[in-house]
Amino acid sequence: MQIKHNIMLLLGLLYATSALASALRIPGPHSERVHHTHIQATLDVEKHRIDASMTLRWKNTTGIELTAIPFHLYLNAFSRTDTAFMTESNGGRLRNDTREGDNQSSFGFIQVTNLTDQNDHDWIKHWQVDGDIATLTLPTPLLPNEEIILNMSFISQLPIVFARSGHNDDTFNFVAQWFPKPGVYANNRWVNHRYHANTEFFSDFGNYDVELTAPSEYLVGATGYRVKKYQSEGLTTHYYQAKDVHDFVWTADSQYGEAQVVWNGITIRLLHQKPLSQQSIDDQFNAARASFEWFDKTVGAYPYSTMTLVQPPKNAGGASGMEYPTLVTTVTNLDHSEYKHFAEMVTIHEIGHNYWQGIFASNEFEESWMDEGINSYTEGRIMRETLNQKNIVEFAHFGVDMPTIHHIGSAAVPTLDPVKTDGWRYVNRQSYSTNSYSKPATILNTVERIWGAEKVDLLLKEYYKKWAFKHPSTTDFLAIAQDVDLDMANYLSAALNTLQSIDMQVKSVRSIKMEKPGGYTFTSNSEEPIFTAPEKTDSYQHSVTLVRKGELYPPNIDVLLTFEDGTTQTRQWHFDDTIPWVKWQWQSDKKLAEVIIDPSFKLMMDTNFSNNIKREKSQNNQSWRWVTSLFQTIQHSFSIILPL
Ligand SMILES: [Zn+2]
Repeated sequence: MQIKHNIMLLLGLLYATSALASALRIPGPHSERVHHTHIQATLDVEKHRIDASMTLRWKNTTGIELTAIPFHLYLNAFSRTDTAFMTESNGGRLRNDTREGDNQSSFGFIQVTNLTDQNDHDWIKHWQVDGDIATLTLPTPLLPNEEIILNMSFISQLPIVFARSGHNDDTFNFVAQWFPKPGVYANNRWVNHRYHANTEFFSDFGNYDVELTAPSEYLVGATGYRVKKYQSEGLTTHYYQAKDVHDFVWTADSQYGEAQVVWNGITIRLLHQKPLSQQSIDDQFNAARASFEWFDKTVGAYPYSTMTLVQPPKNAGGASGMEYPTLVTTVTNLDHSEYKHFAEMVTIHEIGHNYWQGIFASNEFEESWMDEGINSYTEGRIMRETLNQKNIVEFAHFGVDMPTIHHIGSAAVPTLDPVKTDGWRYVNRQSYSTNSYSKPATILNTVERIWGAEKVDLLLKEYYKKWAFKHPSTTDFLAIAQDVDLDMANYLSAALNTLQSIDMQVKSVRSIKMEKPGGYTFTSNSEEPIFTAPEKTDSYQHSVTLVRKGELYPPNIDVLLTFEDGTTQTRQWHFDDTIPWVKWQWQSDKKLAEVIIDPSFKLMMDTNFSNNIKREKSQNNQSWRWVTSLFQTIQHSFSIILPL
């Protein structure tokens, strides 16, 4: 308790310090700060176009001498119909949104128009553009730890939004992935993939100073902390600072409503559509507070002083449900509901990304599970443990929680790719989604239920301590898991890196009344055998055969035996690596009625729960099948809105 008190005191002091106008709630630096990016940007709200100048101070932390630096020009993914993003997504699709029409406003681009070095030498001739990536060839090599300063002018034309960035052909502007961004040098190679239909983003940490100019009647929200704003001739410039972040996003709309609360040193601001009821606003703040409380306690401190929640308008759903450092977008419908909690869940999910994608900043191109998967697991924990809202949907006598939704999503799709696969190499989008979201969430739910939440918490805490702000890989995550529990780590490794699966099955159940043996008994060769009729006894002979199909089994699993009089007995099945089945034979004075493997659904990786139950003498599992099919129906309706 004393330690806890001291920590709270320390946090209090830190908050007090950070209250002196800072982007950080916990003083930094937290990251390597590879770059300092200063942008001055003006939004033309008629053309939905940004004119900007950028000074990029970039440090060579690669450890090698560089002759070129690759950049992302993400907005060029929307510049033509034959880009990787457009062709891979069948002409421009993401989730339920599609590029609409072939008119010019459906397309966007980014163009660097000027580029000089710190001595004002014109370097535009060294800038080679190839669609959504560019390469800057350096006239003289950049040595390890040397810095370079680049001055760029660029134009960003936003498309009508269908995939995260863009406008709604009206007042809403969501300005994401909008400036030239250097690639990341990780594990001895450049990671600078194109903008693929199935992949998100990967960037280095740095500091941002960004001056955003828009008409004064437009409300602006952005990554980081607003230091000041000033007005001139109907335009307002909003000066934002962000530290130890790997991206900078902003939005401007003249139609936003605004609400704000402060929780433990974090200013939580909601930019919402009007009208929105106070209860719906409170739902959002409660979801945000629940997220921060859970993460502060279970994983590590949220280092930033701000979080902005942005509700896009209904006709800009493509911008919804997306994460950026200290700014996330919610679903378009935030209306309070007593029986479904989807709006809160999505906000919790997107804030969670501020850890898995924001603070850890794993390589989302190649290991999307490390962000979406861990996040899909933790969102269920936050709903249950901190928001006190176990279920995402509730009917009269029935609720569905996140682990169930993820289990069904994971079990419904055949395993054709390992979870850890490059984003663009999955057999199809469904395999990408399952392996990035539901399956890793189900793997972690299994680990939690088999090895215990304390071990998972320890894993997440140690992971934060060692790898926050350092771009960890699957190997790094598994190395931490090995220090926590070797069996758990081996299970995680097999589940993430291989096609192994598991299905438990009750093969047969027999429970027959025993008889005292009877019939003819021979006494000698000359005498007739004596007949004694067999007699029923009060005992039963039971025979139960259990089968495991697949390799992904834990050390043991519970089996629930229910007898005819309603009494139960739990027995453990310890697995034998060489024999995939077990036959239990024993006697007792009660008739066995039913056998269930894993009655409390610990092994969420089990691909088929409906064969985990069998009644004696009966093949009739109709009630169970009914529940399963109901789950599948629910999953079908969720698969339309998930993943995010
Ligand atoms: Zn997500």
